[in-house]
Amino acid sequence: MGLLSLGTPLEWSESRAHNEHVRQSGIEQLLNIFRQHGTRTNDAFLWGDEVEYMLVDVDATAHTARLAIEKDYILEDLNDDEKALPECIANNVSYHPEYGRFMVEATPNRPYDGADLADYIYVEENMKVRRKLMENQLKDSPSIVPLTLTTFPRMGCGIFTSPPAKPNGPASQSLFLPDEIINRHVRFPTLTANIRRRKGHKVAINLPLYPDTNTKLVDDSIPQRDLFKHDSEPFLGALLPGHVYMDSMGFGMGSSCLQVTMQAGDLKLGLNLYDAFVPVTGVLLALTAAAPIFKGFLVNQDVRWNVILGAVDDRTFYELEKVPFKGYGEFGGLNVEESTKSLVEGITTADGQSVRRIPKSRYDSVDTYLGGDKYFKKAYNDIVSPVNEKVYNQLIEEGFSEPLAHHFAHLFIRDPLVIFNERVNQDNTLENDHFENIQSTNWQLLRFKPPALYPGTTNISDTPGWRVEFRPMEIQITDFENAAFSVFIALLGGAITKFAPNLLIPILKVDENMKTAHDVDAAISSSFWFRSDWNVQVADFAQYGLNWFAKHDETASNGVNGINGTTLNGNGKSATTKPSEAEYARYSVDEVINGNENFPGLLRLVIKFVATTIDGPAADKLQLERLHHYLQLISLRASGDIPTAANWLRRQVLESPAYQHDSKVSEEINYEIVQKVTAITYLSDNTLLTEFFGSQLGKYVASV
Ligand code: ADP
Ligand code: MG
Ligand code: MG
Ligand code: MG
Repeated sequence: MGLLSLGTPLEWSESRAHNEHVRQSGIEQLLNIFRQHGTRTNDAFLWGDEVEYMLVDVDATAHTARLAIEKDYILEDLNDDEKALPECIANNVSYHPEYGRFMVEATPNRPYDGADLADYIYVEENMKVRRKLMENQLKDSPSIVPLTLTTFPRMGCGIFTSPPAKPNGPASQSLFLPDEIINRHVRFPTLTANIRRRKGHKVAINLPLYPDTNTKLVDDSIPQRDLFKHDSEPFLGALLPGHVYMDSMGFGMGSSCLQVTMQAGDLKLGLNLYDAFVPVTGVLLALTAAAPIFKGFLVNQDVRWNVILGAVDDRTFYELEKVPFKGYGEFGGLNVEESTKSLVEGITTADGQSVRRIPKSRYDSVDTYLGGDKYFKKAYNDIVSPVNEKVYNQLIEEGFSEPLAHHFAHLFIRDPLVIFNERVNQDNTLENDHFENIQSTNWQLLRFKPPALYPGTTNISDTPGWRVEFRPMEIQITDFENAAFSVFIALLGGAITKFAPNLLIPILKVDENMKTAHDVDAAISSSFWFRSDWNVQVADFAQYGLNWFAKHDETASNGVNGINGTTLNGNGKSATTKPSEAEYARYSVDEVINGNENFPGLLRLVIKFVATTIDGPAADKLQLERLHHYLQLISLRASGDIPTAANWLRRQVLESPAYQHDSKVSEEINYEIVQKVTAITYLSDNTLLTEFFGSQLGKYVASV
């Protein structure tokens, strides 16, 4: 489609012969990137978001809502010079392919300026235009709406696509998902099939069923079929009792998320920014939770994360340290050197890569801090994290610090999943595809994005620099919320760089937070490990609660900010916890966001950054008012005064007249949800907006 490199993707049995070549070239490319960009300084604070949409076809007569899988030509048209591309460029928007044929990703075409208040407010406008231009392309199909749902409730249940398609495709061999949901570009079905081939069996994702009075704690949606060898896997041990079983990449990569990429001033600032964001990830996943339904079942968790983790998990039985299913080999599709097979240690593939236990999926939390010079301690990188020893030694020899060498050498334990025949040989001084091949199929909570390579004549300071991508957040229903969370993260990035709070805790605790973030209503009921002393004076931030906006406006009648270092949280409630002596302790999302006796809360960091960096005499009152409401949304979600999307969605099922208290989301309930989500998206139902945003914020959102 002109958006992705074209060529002939190699099937796993052919591509694995090039694995070591890709890794070696990838590291050469990385070294060249460090040589070209390692010392650049003073890059601007630019940033951008990514929003993923689902095209949903609604039939108001039949009361069905299904994923539209034959409208993907709009993506080509939106990138076609002769068609909609000039209008997209004029509107500063850009559309990208995603895994699902029913999906579209959209970003600003040019990044935003993080030093300009107006650009933070422009984000929502840009998001609105993205939806609008897509709708223009769908004018002939008025029943199709682009929605920002994290998961489509009935994906994988009977007929859930428009037009209908059957789950009998060779790429995924799924019992539930037809190959017709996969993007037509050859890269995507190849990726799907190669994960399965490398692994040697299908991916298996099991989510606990939400227990209700009539719930049968079995997934009764699994068909008896023997079309493919893999069809028997649920009966050989892939299915866990009491769980919803999913067997294909699409269940994860077919969900939508919200990502934010920020450019750091230089390499060192980038490492510090990455490290500081690590402990924030789980909290933001819980706060943006929006996925309580999978494959037509209410599940006993609120987010998508472990589903994608499982959906692209290409580890073999051996790597997972699991007993293979009867009749399956432990090394999956790896070409293991026969002479090493019986050894306890030292098993290698034919091309010399060692085969080992691997604790995490390619899609997972981060393994390590990058070791920025600010607060990093070796002891924080406390989980077992295997490295590609050859790569590690090479990077250390080139002068990389231990943690940074470890980071890249960990990414390089993975095999490339899709290699294009025409792209095997590259100029490692000018191309970075092999590096990106490994880098971009390590889907972690954060991504440290190095620059690309350029010819010697290029003015390097004009090219994109060292960037950090924040990836845990779930997509929200409205542009208002997606703008709010994007803006919050970008401002937090600015605040972290400016005020240098110490947020670091051991990675083990970060991983525990990731598990906690899956809890039902984690944002209000669970607690998260967080650092107690942020190395900033709480009093210095006391006046930067949400009421700062009112004072700034000079119409505020009374200040409610704390005095003498006593802080109040964002909603004026007194913080209840005693100052903690421990380096880190468990705190509520409310405390992490709105503050307590120990620390100012992330919101105050953000507001002080606004007050001291991007505010000024020329600041527009309406712009500040909008920003105030973005931050209010985050504060109210954190305090539990208004529901998360997951909480609201779960309630729509539990309270539907069509619900049988059996945890099942029928076509009728699915239709009702899509109707309500559409009304909220287009701000067309004040009652729903009040329910979703609370009365005060609901009124504001509806009014602008
Ligand atoms: P990926 O899918 O690899 O994460 P995308 O191109 O889809 O990358 O999105 C990257 C985001 O980064 C976009 O929002 C884009 O506007 C933004 N961006 C582009 N250039 C820069 C830059 N120099 N600094 C920060 N962000 C940038
Ligand atoms: Mg993208
Ligand atoms: Mg994407
Ligand atoms: Mg991204």
